[in-house]
Amino acid sequence: MNLILLGPPGAGKGTQARRLMEAHGIPQLSTGDMLRAAVAAGTELGKMAKEVMDRGDLVSDEIIVGMIAERIGEPDCANGFILDGFPRSEAQAAALDAMLAESGLALDHVIEMKAVAAALVERIAGRYTCADCGAGYHDRFQTPRVEGVCDDCGGATFERRADDSEATVRSRLAVYHDQTSPLLPYYRAKGVLREIDGMAGIDDVTAQLDAVLAGENQAGRND
Ligand code: ADP
Ligand code: AMP
Repeated sequence: MNLILLGPPGAGKGTQARRLMEAHGIPQLSTGDMLRAAVAAGTELGKMAKEVMDRGDLVSDEIIVGMIAERIGEPDCANGFILDGFPRSEAQAAALDAMLAESGLALDHVIEMKAVAAALVERIAGRYTCADCGAGYHDRFQTPRVEGVCDDCGGATFERRADDSEATVRSRLAVYHDQTSPLLPYYRAKGVLREIDGMAGIDDVTAQLDAVLAGENQAGRND
C-alpha cells in the first residue's frame, strides 16, 4: 500500500503516519524528519537545509527527490510506504510519478487532511516530540499520560523544532498554499485523492483514515 498524506503544516500528518506505520507495518517516509536528521548530523546537506527550513521555504526539488528515490529503494519499503511531507511541489509530484512508473508501482491513496489555517498556528506552537523515539505531543491536545515521561519509550527528554515559531509558521502556510495545494487538483484528476477532516480529534482522524483504507470513503474519487 503506497500512500501520501497531504496537508498543511500542523494538519496531523506525522501523528497519523506514525499510527498507520504501527497498524500496517509500512514505514513513514518524512522528508522533514530526514532533513532534520541531516541538520543534527551536521552534514553539508544539513547545513544548507537548515537555512532554508528556518525561513520556512522549500529545500530544492533535486535534493528532496534524490533523498526519496534512495529511501523508496530500501527493503523496508517493499510492501509500501506512507509519504509524509512529500511531494510538496508539482515538480516533486512529477518526479514521484516517474519513479513509481519505473518500478511498476502506483499510489493507492492520496489523502488530503483538511485543516483551518487559524488552528494550525496553535497546533504548531504547542508541538513537541520525545528526543529519544520521536513520539509527538502537544501542550494541550496530546499530553503524555505521565507528565514529563514519553508514553512510547519512557524517555524524559523532549524537544521543539527550530522552525515552529509563529513567524515561520505563517510563511510555511503561505508556501503550502502557493506551491503544494496545486497538487490537490493534480491528484483529484488522477482519481486517487480522498479528503478527510483534519480538524477532528486525533482518534477520530485515525478512524477516518481507516475508513479510507477500507475503501469506505470515496470522496474526491474521479473514476
Ligand atoms: P504535521 O506532521 O502535519 O505537521 P503533526 O502531526 O506534527 O502535524 O501535528 C502537529 C501538532 O498538532 C502536534 O503537536 C500534534 O500532537 C497535534 N495534533 C495532531 N493531530 C491533531 C488533532 N487531530 N487534533 C489536535 N491536535 C493534533
Ligand atoms: P515538515 O517536517 O514536513 O514540516 O518539513 C519541515 C521543513 O523541511 C519544511 O518547511 C521545508 O523547509 C523542508 N521540507 C520538508 N519536506 C520537503 C519537501 N518535500 N520539499 C521541500 N522542502 C521540504
